[in-house]
Amino acid sequence: MTQPNHAVVTRFAPSPTGYMHIGNLRTALYSYLIAKHAGGTFILRIEDTDRERLVEGATDVILSTMEMTGLSYDEGPSVGGEHGPYVQSERKEIYAKYAKELVDKGYAYYCFCSKERLEQLHEEDATGGYDRHCRNLSPEEIREKLDAGVPYVIRQKMPLDGTVVYQDAVFGEITCECKELQDQILMKADGYPTYNFAHVVDDHLMGVTHVVRGSEYITSTPKYALLYDAFGWERPVYVHLPLLMGKGEDGTVSKLSKRHGAVSFQDLVRDGYLPEAIINYIALLGWSPRGVMAEREFFTLSELTEAFTIEGVNKSPAVFDYEKLLWFNGEYIRKMPFDDFRRAVTPYLPENLPENLDIDLMLTLLQGRLSKLSEIGEKIQFFIELPAYDKELFFNKKNKVTSDNVTALVAGANDALLAVSDWTNDALFAACSAKAEELGVKSGALLWCARIAVSGMAITPGGATEIMCVIGRDETLRRMKHAMALCS
Ligand code: GLU
Repeated sequence: MTQPNHAVVTRFAPSPTGYMHIGNLRTALYSYLIAKHAGGTFILRIEDTDRERLVEGATDVILSTMEMTGLSYDEGPSVGGEHGPYVQSERKEIYAKYAKELVDKGYAYYCFCSKERLEQLHEEDATGGYDRHCRNLSPEEIREKLDAGVPYVIRQKMPLDGTVVYQDAVFGEITCECKELQDQILMKADGYPTYNFAHVVDDHLMGVTHVVRGSEYITSTPKYALLYDAFGWERPVYVHLPLLMGKGEDGTVSKLSKRHGAVSFQDLVRDGYLPEAIINYIALLGWSPRGVMAEREFFTLSELTEAFTIEGVNKSPAVFDYEKLLWFNGEYIRKMPFDDFRRAVTPYLPENLPENLDIDLMLTLLQGRLSKLSEIGEKIQFFIELPAYDKELFFNKKNKVTSDNVTALVAGANDALLAVSDWTNDALFAACSAKAEELGVKSGALLWCARIAVSGMAITPGGATEIMCVIGRDETLRRMKHAMALCS
């Protein structure tokens, strides 16, 4: 058991986009695991300073995802904590003060460039970025514009030469030439900070020791490291996670996106994947267990917490394999206690199921045969309505059913069933077996015919008599009648 290290503080800091991308969920999971493995603190922070992109209800999506997946946080919206508020739009005043401090120290500057000017610059050279026009305004010019109420942003003053180096716990030493760095905006004209600034201030104030996030941030991190340096704050440990890729139909691999399949947690859940299966699967997308657990595939969240170490995080991109997730999901469905399975699958059942259907028995027959909950509708269709089938379906070499004996076998099964008063699996089975003996055939032959008759299918979940129990006496006899007409 690892010694608790209360000093480890991580956070998951999603922007409320209205859905939880699988890549973001993996970030949340790894961030949670790094904190919890060390007995540390896991924080949830909502990064909503991009006011133009606000989506109504989006924060609820994040909160419900955290709840459904069991990624409980020690501090965050709705639970509070000593570093709150945990929603950036409620922290607006804090950032202004720190931006001002950077301006005073010479690490940032006011930029009064108009939108038109910036658009013009962009038109001239879309890759050129900002030309640092306002970087060297005199104090008088600045005062004058501020007094006149000219709208402004605050930009980070990047060093013009030299390099920035930082250590990444996964990718190792990352070096960046300062001349590559743009004087990025820290505070926008609307008074809100950019992500680039707000997250650094918050991570520091919230005591975050390990910044865990996707590798798309690797190249921006030098700018953030410079902000820590400018404030004189200790930099956190950076843990960038490998890219998440998807495989296209032609076998090519590219960044995981909608064209590969469902990419949000919500869509996967809607499609009948279980949160536990999703979490287990994505834990392995970029991390491998080590030591005695190296070969292991199945982990509960608490087992992951025990096993997870940063050393096990891989650098190379992980490919999201939908087939594999489906397999995991089927395994998880199989292992569920029946009551949980029934509760989970019920929303996927068609409305207006026939009254006499024994739903619990039907679900028992199907629990081991689903890869995802949404398959239930299609798999139980034959219980609801007998599919059309041909007489040929009865003919079967192994069970010795031919055009010569099929009529007698179906009629025999029908007779046997007519005489059953106690409509239970055992009684039905006994009646069919007795009838087979009477006819001098193997019971398999008679049961085969009975199964085709009640299901209209050669492969079914459950045997003949189980299906009869699900659909009930009247429907069974109706289907037998139909079979007899077909075979006569
Ligand atoms: N709000 C950022 C995002 O959703 C967070 C990135 C980070 O973890 O720093 O991508």
